[in-house]
Amino acid sequence: CGIIGYVGPRSAESVVIDGLRRMEYRGYDSAGIAVLEAGGIALRKKAGKLVNLETELEIDPIPESHVGIGHTRWATHGAPNDANAHPHVSTNGRVALVHNGIIENFASLRAEAIAKGAVFASETDSEAAAQLLGLEVAAGAGLADAMRTICRRLEGAFTLVAIDTASPDRIVAARRNSPLVVGVGDGEMFVASDVAAFIEFTRDAVEMGQDEVVEVTSDGYTVTDFAGTVVAGKPFHVDWDL
Ligand code: GLU
Repeated sequence: CGIIGYVGPRSAESVVIDGLRRMEYRGYDSAGIAVLEAGGIALRKKAGKLVNLETELEIDPIPESHVGIGHTRWATHGAPNDANAHPHVSTNGRVALVHNGIIENFASLRAEAIAKGAVFASETDSEAAAQLLGLEVAAGAGLADAMRTICRRLEGAFTLVAIDTASPDRIVAARRNSPLVVGVGDGEMFVASDVAAFIEFTRDAVEMGQDEVVEVTSDGYTVTDFAGTVVAGKPFHVDWDL
């Protein structure tokens, strides 16, 4: 229900948790975070309120990182438990992905990923996207190309945000029928489902159009359509108070 991603000099964990808290008003049943660490992905996720995730992070801390994604879930496919909470990490350990919305054709995509070696760890529709993305990058695609490839195949509504251990300086996000905004800071970038998530850090934002993918690093962003054609984002300034 709430999504945030961060690339920059701050602690990804603190920006992500803070962003999730600022979106709590939307309602949710579980919460999770994934950050890039040396050679892999650190993942923590818990059913229930954000405080449960924070308690887990105290018991089992994640390393300092400058690239991270977070999610608060409103379950549609699969019970609200720890396993079904997002992010979802692909079986090959390459990518972590969060999703808002519903992937209507998840059953056939899930079967395809299983046939290619994925072992599902949740009952969500979302994990099919995580596993297919992991398979695409393992086959040699860059993260943004892999995201465009899977987005062309997904049906339904989605905001997706993903990280890849092989591209440790970036986040890739996509949207269809579900909101996504980019927050443009000075040497840091945010992606979120709601400007409330990053308004504390920057008021310069870019609205993402329908069926678009954005790739962000700490110092810039590139928006394309699902075919890979570069499109101009729509910058705006958040001048209201939240
Ligand atoms: N359909 C996904 C799930 O049930 C995402 C739900 C959401 O938007 O939070 O996990």
